[in-house]
Amino acid sequence: MTGSLLAVDHLTVEFPTRHGTLTALDDVSFGIAPGEILGMVGESGAGKSLTGAAIIGLLPPPGRIRSGEVRLNGQRINGLPEAALRRIRGRQIGAIFQDPLTALNPLYTVGRQLTETILAHLPVMPAEAQRRAVGLLSDTGIAAAAERLHHYPHQFSGGMRQRVVIALALAAEPQLLVADEPTTALDVSVQAQVIALLKSLCRERGTAVLLITHDMGVIAESCDRVAVMYAGRIAEIGPVQAILHRPSHPYTTGLMAAIPDMAVSVPRLRQIDGAMPRLDAVPAGCSFHPRCPQAFARCQEARPELLPAGATQAACWLHAVSERAP
Ligand code: SF4
Repeated sequence: MTGSLLAVDHLTVEFPTRHGTLTALDDVSFGIAPGEILGMVGESGAGKSLTGAAIIGLLPPPGRIRSGEVRLNGQRINGLPEAALRRIRGRQIGAIFQDPLTALNPLYTVGRQLTETILAHLPVMPAEAQRRAVGLLSDTGIAAAAERLHHYPHQFSGGMRQRVVIALALAAEPQLLVADEPTTALDVSVQAQVIALLKSLCRERGTAVLLITHDMGVIAESCDRVAVMYAGRIAEIGPVQAILHRPSHPYTTGLMAAIPDMAVSVPRLRQIDGAMPRLDAVPAGCSFHPRCPQAFARCQEARPELLPAGATQAACWLHAVSERAP
C-alpha cells in the first residue's frame, strides 16, 4: 500500500461469542491515496461498516482486531492507547454516520460545537475559530451562516443537519474522512446534493474518503475506486468505471445486473439466488460458491486471493493463470 494515506493490511476482525469466535472481517487489504474517494459496497452484513469502525477504532464490543494493521501516513494506529487514538480520531480522521442527530449535541448551538472542535484540534484563537466556523457552514451550502451559527441542531432540516455534520467532520482539517451511509436517512432529492458537496469539499482539501454505502448510484456519482465486500472479504476492487461496466467477479456481475436500467423495460429485475452466509456458516473455499453460476470444483476446495482481472482485482479462481491456460 505504498503511497497511500490510509493503508489497511490483512485486517482480520473477530467477535468472541459463547458458541465460539466468529470472523467478521477476514484478511482485508486496501489503500486510499490523498484526495481519493474509495467506495465500499456490499449487502448488509458483508463487513463494510465494520471496516470503517475498525479504522476509526470504534468496533462494537466484543469485536476486536485479531491481526493486521491500519496505518495512517505510515503510522500504525490500531492498537494505540485510547487517548492517543481519540486525538487521531479528532484531528486526522473525521467521521460521518447515517444519522446526523447522533453526531450533534442537541444542547449546544452548532456554532459552539464547531468552534469547540476547531479550538480543540487547531492552534487558533477563539475569534479565528469563529471565523472558520462561519466559513465551514457557508462552504457546506448553509445560507446566512453567521446567523445559523446560533441555532440548535433541531432547528435544521435533515439535509441541513447532515451538512452541519460534514462541516463538523472537516472542522479539524482531517486527512481522512470515513463516511458510513451518509445520505441513507435523507430524501432522495437531498442525497445527490449532499454527495456532490462531500465530493467537492474533499477534492478541494485533498481529503481521502472511505465512503461506505449500499447505493450504487452514490458510488457511480462520487467514487474513484470501489471495493466490493462479500462475507467479510473484498471480492473485487478497482476503478469505478470498470467495476460498474466491466466487473470481473461473478458476485459484482450479479450486483450490477440487479440495478434497474431505466432505459430498458424488463418484467422482473435479475437477482442473485440465495443469501449471503451467516458468520458462523461461511462455506469453505470461495464463500460465494453456493450462489455462483460459474462455480467449478476448485471453488469449493480453496479460497481465492485477489488476482489481477483486467482493470480490477478479483478474488475468483476464474482469473488464476492456471485456470486460463488451455
Ligand atoms: Fe464463482 Fe469460483 Fe469465482 Fe468463487 S472462485 S466467484 S465460486 S467462479
